[in-house]
Amino acid sequence: MNTHPIIETKQLTKTYGGTSRVDHVNLKVQKGEIFGFLGPNGAGKTTTLKMLLGLVQPTKGTVKLFGQELRNHRLEILNRTGSLIESPSYYGHLTGLENLRVMQRLRSLPAKNIDKVLQIVRLENHRHKPAGQYSLGMKQRLGLAMALLAFPSLLILDEPTNGLDPAGIGEIRELIKSLPAQYDMTIVVSSHLLSEIEQTATSVGIISEGQLLFQGTMAALQTQNQAKIHFQINDPSAAVKVLAAQGYRPIMQERRLVFGPMQDSEVSRINEILVSGQIEVSRIVESRKSLEDIFLGLTGKERSL
Ligand code: ATP
Repeated sequence: MNTHPIIETKQLTKTYGGTSRVDHVNLKVQKGEIFGFLGPNGAGKTTTLKMLLGLVQPTKGTVKLFGQELRNHRLEILNRTGSLIESPSYYGHLTGLENLRVMQRLRSLPAKNIDKVLQIVRLENHRHKPAGQYSLGMKQRLGLAMALLAFPSLLILDEPTNGLDPAGIGEIRELIKSLPAQYDMTIVVSSHLLSEIEQTATSVGIISEGQLLFQGTMAALQTQNQAKIHFQINDPSAAVKVLAAQGYRPIMQERRLVFGPMQDSEVSRINEILVSGQIEVSRIVESRKSLEDIFLGLTGKERSL
């Protein structure tokens, strides 16, 4: 069985005016994944996605899609790939249906695909309306219909919910989630919103200032938020001494001793050591960082998302 990743970049770099906007990025996306590409505005998401599609020439590094080098197999690869990057392009004076027909003929695709994609993106009832008169959400759905028209193996969507209202966001999210199983697709979806990615993606890449800071499953990202146990006590320096004698080296934060994750039995044991050392324990608390905290911690708290 062929198990090469659907996307594999090696040291992918794009430099503008001497600054690396995408900096030695090694991405790996496996078949059937919904890969959430997450990062603040200006992090380098769009530039990376454009390099995956051959729309921007890398300064350095390689892109392989479906196990083949993009630069040597461009047409073949792009025939299996659908994308929606930045705002959808369409003819405003043509209806949604006519826009799809233009593309279907241009790419010699089966005519029946048009009805299918109109149904998938729920534009059947608006097919005869000029696309220029569509609402923002409808335009976005038309863009998605165009990206889906060839039923590609790989779908690349750059911030597909940008500018949509909550109902529209929910619809697109559900649609994205349904595609891999229904149509055997692999999806890359970028966003600057953790909540977006958290609800749709099976794996995630976090990029900031052109650097890939994390890549892995959602579950692996979650493990970065291991629980901490806090003991609130009356005499921190005495407590540290008592604990040090038993081999414990907690972090001291004001009147709290902070430990890493531990079993209940160990919590009891530490409590016992403290109490028998005449230390008053007034509270034992478990804390866990939210995914948002992890994301902010990785990308830098000072920047707004
Ligand atoms: P956003 O969500 O705001 O679109 P992004 O993560 O997609 O952000 P990019 O659009 O990839 O970020 O931009 C990354 C950086 O590269 C930005 O600082 C941007 O100004 C710069 N950049 C992008 N394209 C060009 C270009 N053609 N010439 C010069 N600089 C560019």
